[in-house]
Amino acid sequence: MRNLILILGDQLSHGLSALCDGDPTRDRVVMAEVHQEASYTNHHRKKLILLFSAMRHFADELRQAGWQVDYQTYHPDNQHQTLEAVVAASVTEHVPERLITTECGEWRLDQAIRQWHQRLKVAVEIRPDTRFFASKQTFARWAEGRKQLRMEYFYREMRRHTGLLMTADGGPEGGQWNYDSDNRKKWTGKPPAPAPFRVEPDTITREVIDLVETHFSNHFGSSDDFHFAVTRGQAREALAHFIDFALPCFGDYQDAMSDQEDWLFHSVLSPYINCGLLTPQEVCDAACQAYQRGQVPLNAAEGFVRQILGWREFVRGLYWLTMPDYAQLNRLGNQRPLPWFYWTGDTRMRCLHRAIDATRRNGYAHHIQRLMVTGNFALLSGIAPADICDWYLAVYVDAYDWVELPNTLGMVMHADGGYLGSKPYAASGKYIQRMSDHCQQCHYRVADSTGDRACPFNALYWHFLDRHRDQFAGNPRMSMMYRNWDRQKPERRQAILARGDWLLDHLEQL
Ligand code: FAD
Ligand code: SF4
Repeated sequence: MRNLILILGDQLSHGLSALCDGDPTRDRVVMAEVHQEASYTNHHRKKLILLFSAMRHFADELRQAGWQVDYQTYHPDNQHQTLEAVVAASVTEHVPERLITTECGEWRLDQAIRQWHQRLKVAVEIRPDTRFFASKQTFARWAEGRKQLRMEYFYREMRRHTGLLMTADGGPEGGQWNYDSDNRKKWTGKPPAPAPFRVEPDTITREVIDLVETHFSNHFGSSDDFHFAVTRGQAREALAHFIDFALPCFGDYQDAMSDQEDWLFHSVLSPYINCGLLTPQEVCDAACQAYQRGQVPLNAAEGFVRQILGWREFVRGLYWLTMPDYAQLNRLGNQRPLPWFYWTGDTRMRCLHRAIDATRRNGYAHHIQRLMVTGNFALLSGIAPADICDWYLAVYVDAYDWVELPNTLGMVMHADGGYLGSKPYAASGKYIQRMSDHCQQCHYRVADSTGDRACPFNALYWHFLDRHRDQFAGNPRMSMMYRNWDRQKPERRQAILARGDWLLDHLEQL
């Protein structure tokens, strides 16, 4: 045998660099559902189902294409409980000339694999992950010498580099780089949000659901109504569904939240892009082509492309540039433990209840729920970054360290001191009221900042600004907030701070 090719659970792409020049007659593929990867965090049950089922389908597709695939299915008593043990056994059995793999997405595993040539006594070739638009080196070159990294400038470089939504004379389509200001409409039920794309579980998926229910019943989330795509063909259908039914309104309602609708006009494609069933390139191409056909407006296509070509590539580059130190940062010195209701949804704060409940049922909440509801509350409450990062890594079907960590630690918690974002996304209840209909259903009163029924976001917001005055008062993008705070009467400021103190001491009871 010539090469042993290792494929990980988030590398389910037929064009993967590790596979691209492989020879099915001389090389062998190894894949494994291992205990260590399935249980290093309290992964949502739907995430385990998605990944195990998608891996099994992918292995079948490889076999149909003529590959020999060694595949370990999950059992808690498997002899090999780690990827290293599976690969070591395969190396002993097949004595390959080389082990080939594509660089993995997580720093922890990447470090381990880089030791394998010594530990397993086999030549290991680690190939770049060419599914991203920017290599780690491209990002590092762009970042070199910059004190702060701003997504917007990186995004413009990427637009120029890829030609996506660029005119023939080298300018941005429509004359502007960014149509974000058009993308802040509140959704009031019209136009109706499309039904989410659904795939009924097949035999393989049903077996995996049983397996997860048997062995991971203590994990977060519900496995009921599993309807995610688990093959590339199905993921392509999910993409087509999004382009036809949701993308036309994606831009307008990108920041909206609804008390009734879980998915609104979002693509729900991150689970597939992140595990390799779809490539970022084909997803962006599809959105740009829909714009060129006149099927969707520019603010929708641009808003969508920016999330992938801009944010997704940016956070991935930042992760590899700054790890492992990044994961330890806590510039605001937050120490408070995560309230238990993040795991149960059992809170009278309607916006949090709805975001956490959707997360529990679906393994999904859209970006504004993650950023401005669960994230904003954690920021205002001073939750320890490690606690909130663990939560985001566990509860979403699309969660992987490389994308979750910068979003949570940098974008939400501002724990990197502003390296990722120029100011924290702190907001009072007014923002949630403006972008959703949650407040009408809430126990708390969004108009109030003091009193037992006052919206907790309000006093916590002012308390946050007040206690971090040293860090933020000099930030020009925040000076207006401080002016507003300072303009309030001293007695009122005292009352709000007292309410804030009380809230921080009683988070579990909210
Ligand atoms: P859409 O709204 O349809 O956006 C389109 C695509 O853009 C997404 O599929 C995704 O690939 C990409 N995208 C959008 N925003 C971001 C972003 N900020 N960073 C990276 N990619 C982005 N995304 C993950 O894929 N995995 C995570 O673990 C994750 N953790 C997050 C944690 C926090 C605290 C926050 C605030 C955001 C996180 N995101 C994460 C980013 C974003 O919320 C999700 O990508 C998005 O909600 C996925 O749903 P969607 O496919 O419907 O996205
Ligand atoms: Fe959330 Fe406050 Fe509105 Fe209640 S009143 S839904 S807690 S923002």
